[in-house]
Amino acid sequence: MADVLRTYSEENLKQVVTDLGQPSYRVKQLVEWLFVHPVLSYDEMTNLPASFRKALKERFPLLPPRIYNRQISRDGSRKYVLQLDDDSLIEMVAMPQEKDRLSVCLSTQVGCPLQCIFCATGREGFQRNLRADEIVDQVIIAQNDFNMRVSHVLAMGQGEPFLNYDNLMDALHVLNDPHRMAIGSRHITISTSGMIKGIERLASEPDQFTLAVSLHAAIQSLRDKLMPKMASQPLDMLHQALITYYKKTRRRFTLEYVLIDKVNDSPACLEALIDFCQYLHCHVNLIPLNDTGDEGFKPSGSRTLNQWQNTLIQHHIETTVRNSRGADIMGACGQLKNSL
Ligand code: SAH
Ligand code: SF4
Repeated sequence: MADVLRTYSEENLKQVVTDLGQPSYRVKQLVEWLFVHPVLSYDEMTNLPASFRKALKERFPLLPPRIYNRQISRDGSRKYVLQLDDDSLIEMVAMPQEKDRLSVCLSTQVGCPLQCIFCATGREGFQRNLRADEIVDQVIIAQNDFNMRVSHVLAMGQGEPFLNYDNLMDALHVLNDPHRMAIGSRHITISTSGMIKGIERLASEPDQFTLAVSLHAAIQSLRDKLMPKMASQPLDMLHQALITYYKKTRRRFTLEYVLIDKVNDSPACLEALIDFCQYLHCHVNLIPLNDTGDEGFKPSGSRTLNQWQNTLIQHHIETTVRNSRGADIMGACGQLKNSL
């Protein structure tokens, strides 16, 4: 049994309560404090006796991230730089949408080893994987800061989720469990740079999490330039993995395509994307690049965006354009943290 209480099932918590000589009704109280109306410290668990809290603190220290910096966007979204207990920094964004809807874009690693050249996180290098509780705590921090339940989760912040597969799944199970944080599986999205092993593993899980794949180029040589570390996982294999994913799960997935002016937005690039979408049950999400100031990359213009969207739709490919939220607070992950 791992020593991170925030990932414990009710069974495991029963064991803890018994081991520490407490009556069984404490299990319900713990579940309440850890998951239902979660707090980040034992001191806030006010209906537990001090001796029990002390024993828990010693045996199962909670090591939540702390808010190091918070920026509030004009559109209401909030971007956080969080400091972990080893002092490293990650980013998290919370976006209130309609009434009752609060989406959190969380990080899964400190930095990222994949070094995509348009990505601020890729440029900072890789430090470590996040623990499952550090992933869950990001949701709790947003929830407490907004005083509102988080309804949607996107593993789309810093890091490559499938390179931290086990901790990610442990965390998502806590978030999804109806007796714990109860966020519906279809409201949980995992964004990957296209790691084939991860896509295959996800396809064999019973959970109905949503998959998003960062494509950014359907021409191999161009993709290799933009995402050099993904060159070992060629597009034809990715395509095959996505066909298999759909056959197994019957779930549509999203292809994300960041449009960079004069880099991956030519007519030939569009044609390649249309070809790639053949035989795939996908939804395309076009994203204007968030200018990170480096490499001279600029977002494609709105004319190109509209033209891409219209052409894809003409080819019966469901396509949306993502409005980058929080652009005024350095929307692309890694940007705010790296500017502090
Ligand atoms: N590593 C995963 C998830 C984190 S990145 C992945 O690559 O999918 C989340 C998304 O942000 C990816 O689609 C990524 O390509 C995109 N992204 C990175 N840098 C960006 C930028 N400067 N502007 C817009 N989107 C960016
Ligand atoms: Fe890593 Fe995703 Fe950034 Fe690429 S885009 S460097 S995979 S976080």
